[in-house]
This record gives sequence, structure tokens and C-alpha cells, in this order.
Amino acid sequence: MTNVSSPILTRTARPDQMFPALTPAQIARVGAHGHVRPIRRGDVLFEPGDHKVPFFVITKGGIEIVRPDGVTETPIVVHGAGQFTGEVNMISGRRSLVRGRVTESGELIELDHDRFLDLVQTDSELSEIFMRAFILRRVELIANGLGDVVLVGSRHCAGTLRVKEFLTRNGHPYAYIDVERDDSVQTLLDRFHVGMTDMPVLICRGELVLRNPQNREIADCLGFNDDIDETQVRDLVIVGAGPSGLAAAVYAASEGLDVLVIESNAPGGQAGSSSKIENYLGFPAGVSGQELASRAYTQAQKFGAQLMIAKGATRLTCDRKPYAVEIENGPRIPARAVIIATGADYRKLSLDNLAQFEGTGVYYGATFIEAQLCRGEEVVIIGGGNSAGQAAVFLAQTARRVHMLVRSGGLAESMSRYLIRRIETNPAIVLRTHTEVTTLEGDYQVRRVSWRDRQTGAVETHDIGHVFVMTGASPTTGWLHDCVALDGRGFVKTGPDLSSDDLATAQWPLARAPHLLETSLPGVFAVGDVRGGNIKRVASAVGEGSIAVAFVHQVLHE
Ligand SMILES: Cc1cc2nc3c(=O)[nH]c(=O)nc-3n(C[C@H](O)[C@H](O)[C@H](O)COP(=O)(O)OP(=O)(O)OC[C@H]3O[C@@H](n4cnc5c(N)ncnc54)[C@H](O)[C@@H]3O)c2cc1C
Repeated sequence: MTNVSSPILTRTARPDQMFPALTPAQIARVGAHGHVRPIRRGDVLFEPGDHKVPFFVITKGGIEIVRPDGVTETPIVVHGAGQFTGEVNMISGRRSLVRGRVTESGELIELDHDRFLDLVQTDSELSEIFMRAFILRRVELIANGLGDVVLVGSRHCAGTLRVKEFLTRNGHPYAYIDVERDDSVQTLLDRFHVGMTDMPVLICRGELVLRNPQNREIADCLGFNDDIDETQVRDLVIVGAGPSGLAAAVYAASEGLDVLVIESNAPGGQAGSSSKIENYLGFPAGVSGQELASRAYTQAQKFGAQLMIAKGATRLTCDRKPYAVEIENGPRIPARAVIIATGADYRKLSLDNLAQFEGTGVYYGATFIEAQLCRGEEVVIIGGGNSAGQAAVFLAQTARRVHMLVRSGGLAESMSRYLIRRIETNPAIVLRTHTEVTTLEGDYQVRRVSWRDRQTGAVETHDIGHVFVMTGASPTTGWLHDCVALDGRGFVKTGPDLSSDDLATAQWPLARAPHLLETSLPGVFAVGDVRGGNIKRVASAVGEGSIAVAFVHQVLHE
């Protein structure tokens, strides 16, 4: 067997899991799904940018995986007999990031993308080996910045933070150059008249230079949505890829439905911005929202669900069947059933200059990326709910001091007791009750924050550059227009919550009552935070997403 020697492998702690060799019995099971192909030294099996690259198991000889970069190549790994190619893209069918070239003539087994998906859906032992290896390989690519994207930006630029978050939440590897730490890059940008308003600059697949690109442009350039047929009538269209939408996608696709998920930003929803979820069943040490979401995303794709990234639904066409979900600047996607999983939007502070500082001192999530920005500095957290509490505990690990501002007299009514205890016992966290932010001052980023004691009227101003707004959220239902009944706060009404008046107004056409989680429109369901009466937790979002699929089956057979 050709042994593996590469910079990545020498650095990794888990080579046996990342680059395992299959047993003869396992190779025989793969062989039953594919065909044998001879290989000759120098043959190129796939190139960066290739779609739906086949899956290869080497039975004799060797293949090297390299990342071409202009004239040079970065060696990643060499696979020998018994080993297999691929990383997360093998599941999603997205473009390859690397080149695969034969280093030693021999033979391999080749499976095209669809046959490979058949194999992972039917052979649980192989599925586990492949999944683990692919995810570990992708993590290693990300850690080494070995993607097809170079991001040039500044830590003081909101766009840079947005693009970093978008790439990270899509699990896409990228290299980052900070202009403030690299003078030569700044000089180069000046030469090409790239000003602050053009930042960040994204060099996509070594070809396109995108100036301050929207997430949609990045998704287009990286081919995130290339394989989606927008004209196909789907069994189920799910709008929103937070925990509820992803759960629905996993259950529906695994039960054989043809599923498309439409997501206006990146998978994960609010949970994706949570630094650590400690109360989700099965994760006693907690799990980051990002990790949970990326696992769910891969799982949904493994079962054949498709995800459309960075495309928001703008309207539900509900006056005829099949229904259709309209996409911004795009087509209408026809659907026999629809699940509304669009969650909620963060509530904002009513400060005139808030938008000026969003991403440059005002944040709505506290993840590893934000924690790095305020390492060793003072931060303000606004809000007294669980998300504010988690952020306080998380940021207190790296920030010098965390000022926690709540308008009420305490945390007891709004926060879990375990979090209250951690806040009370953490010397880095200062809880300020009856307090609200009055002004933010700064230039291109927040420099000073003032707050007022609502009881005494006393105002304090501090030189603080980071404000985390964690004041709850309101439902994302604007795109539904008048298609479904909403409650007084704008949340979608479902099942037993729909009154006979609601059903009469909606002209409910069926003899049966709406199913649990079904809206006032037959075959259209609502799950997770967007639903009236929902408990705003990851577990309930996941539970509702999975339960709804059982009712989708019933509706499709009606
Ligand atoms: C910082 C933070 C920490 C949290 N910590 C915890 C915790 O520890 N434990 C816990 O149980 N819960 C926690 N929560 C709550 C939990 O994350 C939410 O209850 C859960 O994410 C709700 O899931 P959802 O799928 O219903 O909606 P969301 O997570 O809101 O996802 C909705 C998705 O829909 C997309 N979308 C919206 N509109 C459109 C459109 N028109 N077209 C297409 N897509 C659209 C959004 O981009 C988003 O990705 C936390 C929340 C936050 C903000």
C-alpha cells in the first residue's frame, strides 16, 4: 500500500479515521455499486471546479490529492490501496476543491454521484466510515485555509465579518488576508483603486474578483445552487434551514420524499449563531450551534435533500395547486406541500445610528468569530434571556469584562437557573439591572457606549467597542402575505389553535380539521420559532420539523 505523507496528514491527530483503509469485504460491497477502472500514472481523475466528482476506491496503485494554486500545487494527501477519495462535496455534489492525479498505475473502483448516494443510504457501516472521513477532511481543509476562496478584508469592516460568517456557516474553506496586518496587500489594493467601500474583496476560484459581494453572489460563484432544477414540482418545499427546517429535511428525504430547502442566508438559523447549546438532548458537554447545523446539513444532503443557499422566499403563491414559492429575482418553485420554517428575526435597539455599527461593534450573535474580535476588551450584552446569558458566560472566557444590561429588576423570570448561577459566580460579568443603552458613538466602529439607570436617571459613558444585542426576535412572516392565518403577534397559527372563524375566513375547503402543525391552508405547515405557541428552543424546533413530515405524507396521499 502506498503510504500517506503530506503536510495535512502529519499535522492531523486522527489519520486512521480521516484516511482509513477499507477491508476486502467492504471493498467488495462498494464494488457491487460501481465498476472497475484501470489507472495510469499521470492520469488526472478530477480537477478543481468539476461537478459531481465520482467516488473512487483504490484497489491497486496510488492517487495524490493536491490543491493547485496558480503555478504551484499544495500537496494534501496520497491515497493508497484500500483508501478512498472525497470529502463533504462528495455528498452535496458541489464543485471539487482539489485535483486528483494518479501517482502509481493500478486499478480502482468508480461510483458516480447517484450510485454513491445509493450506497451510503443503504450500507450503514460504510456510511459511517465515509461520513466521518469526509467531515474530518473538510475540517482539515478549513483549518488549513485550503479552499478555492481568498478573502481580503479588515477586522473593522462589517462586510468582512458577514462574508466570513457566510463561508463558515456553509462549511466552505477559505484563506483570509487582513489588510491591516499586511502592508503590501494594502499597497496592492491602492494600486487597483480598491477603496474601503469595496471591502472585502473575494477572489473566487482563482478567477473572479468580487468587491464587497452579496452572499447571493458568493453562492453563485461557488456554485452552491448549480444542480437545482427550479422547474421540478417537489413533494415538499421547506422554507428556512434553521434547526426546524433541517430536521424536516432529514426526515422527509430519508422517508423518500423529493425535498428542496430554500434558505435566504446560510444553514443553521439562530442556532447557528449560538456559541454553545447546552440543553440539547445527547450532548452533555454542549454543542456549538454551528457544529449542530453543519452536521444536520450534511445529514439532509446524505438522504438526498437539496438546499438552495442565499435565496430568500419572497412570496407563497397559494391560490392554486401545486403551490409555488417565489424566490427573490428568480423563479417560482412548485410544491405539493410546503413547510414554513422561517424562524424569527432579531429585535433591534431603537437607536438612530444602529445600522452604521452593525457588524462593526454591534452584533446579534456571540460565536468564536466575535469572541476573537473582542479578546481582552470590555463588552456590553443587552438582554436578560437565555441567549444573552449564554453569550455572557461564553464571552467572559476571553473578554476583560462583560457588562450585562437588563431593563428589568433581575434575571429570574427570563433565564434558566443554571445560567443565572454561572453569571452570579463569574467575577468577569457585571450585571446591571434597570439599565438601558442610550447612545452609541464612534467613527467606522463603536468607540463609546452610554447607558442610563432607569430608576435613578444616572447616565454613564464607557470606552467600549463591542455591543451584543440579545433582546429576542419577531417572526419572519412578511413573505407569506395573506396566505395563512397569523396570531395577534404575527406568528403562524396551526392545528388546534385555528378557530372556526380563522377557518371560515381562510375558506378551509376540507371536511377534516387541520392537522397538528398545519396552517389554515391545507398542505402548508409551520414549525419552529415562526409558529404561534412554539417553545423557542432547538429541541422543540427539531421535534416539530420531524413531526410535520408525518402529516406531509398524509396530505400527499389525500
Ligand atoms: C444566540 C442564540 C442562542 C440560543 N441558544 C439556545 C440554546 O442554548 N438552547 C435552545 O434550545 N435554544 C437556543 N436558542 C433558540 C434556538 O436557536 C431557536 O429556538 C431555534 O433556532 C429556532 O429554530 P427555527 O428553525 O424555528 O428558526 P431559526 O433558527 O430562526 O431559522 C430560520 C431560518 O429561516 C431562514 N429564513 C427566514 N426567512 C426566510 C425566507 N423568506 N426565505 C428563506 N429563508 C428564510 C433564516 O435565514 C434562518 O436560517 C438560541 C437562539 C439564539 C439567537
